[in-house]
Amino acid sequence: MSASPTELTGTIIAAHGRHYLADIDGEKLQCVTRGKKTNVAVGDVVHVVRTSENQAVIERIAERTTLLYRSDQYKSKLLAANISRLFVVIATEPGFADDLVSRSLVACEAAGIEAHLILNKTDVTDLLPRARERAAQYSRLGYPVHEVSAQAHPEETVEILKPLLAGQSSIFIGQSGMGKSSLINLLIPDADIAVREISAALDTGKHTTTFTRLYWLPEVDGKAGAIIDSPGFQEFGLYHLSEGMLERAFVEFKPYLGGCKYYNCRHLAEPFCAILDAVAAGKIWKHRHELYGQLLHESAQTLY
Ligand code: GDP
Ligand code: ZN
Repeated sequence: MSASPTELTGTIIAAHGRHYLADIDGEKLQCVTRGKKTNVAVGDVVHVVRTSENQAVIERIAERTTLLYRSDQYKSKLLAANISRLFVVIATEPGFADDLVSRSLVACEAAGIEAHLILNKTDVTDLLPRARERAAQYSRLGYPVHEVSAQAHPEETVEILKPLLAGQSSIFIGQSGMGKSSLINLLIPDADIAVREISAALDTGKHTTTFTRLYWLPEVDGKAGAIIDSPGFQEFGLYHLSEGMLERAFVEFKPYLGGCKYYNCRHLAEPFCAILDAVAAGKIWKHRHELYGQLLHESAQTLY
């Protein structure tokens, strides 16, 4: 369906509670939804109708290619739409949690988003071998790992990341201290100014910087890219995943699915389970299987 003449089409570039900011060919309009709807996410392409010089109401959301949810106490809320690539930032120090990395990877698999890892702070050489060893667990699963140092080698870092971002709608995720802000600031040199502008335009009453926002990247070969940054570490909402989706979101389970004796095997304690056999044989990383069990348990909690 094409937009009616009174409708404008744009992209949601910031969200704070129920306040949204849409970019309509460079013009920024404050947007609200009709009623109490909160079904809009940063990255959404929206059709809006202007209600005043700088305000509009969101009439329709265009079909999404992907959708990520954030966790909210056994509920899943929208985090970002139309993301094509997710980067999990890890570092030599401080330590990172495999649990949080894998939750991000599971969220990507479920949503159909390509996931990469960025190993930052490679200049901390004494801790590098151990960090590499840990990162290799993920490259063995098929997730590319890119080594950078935002602080010690900023130019090289940009050289490595730029081609990965070109034409993509990317999101960076990381536990606090990994260097996510340092990386964003390298990639978007005027990020601070943009945040202040967006904060003022969002007009939430207080000039907050704690909102999810989208930065446009310069076009490469006619393809525009974008980076979505969400403050703090976002634990992904995975509660909407069914058991079938969950087992398929663990990529290393794939060769064994269908090999269990019981068709409704949940791979927890059942006899003749191909997944449990693979865990016992060291072919599936035990930690990931435990996380699978944990996620299964969490998603069951939401049923009651
Ligand atoms: P965030 O919490 O993930 O956004 O992390 P920040 O970007 O705020 O960085 C956390 C700390 O790590 C800061 O003190 C940075 O200066 C430092 N840092 C960031 N990148 C590097 C790096 O490549 N090497 C080293 N040694 N420190 C870094
Ligand atoms: Zn099984």
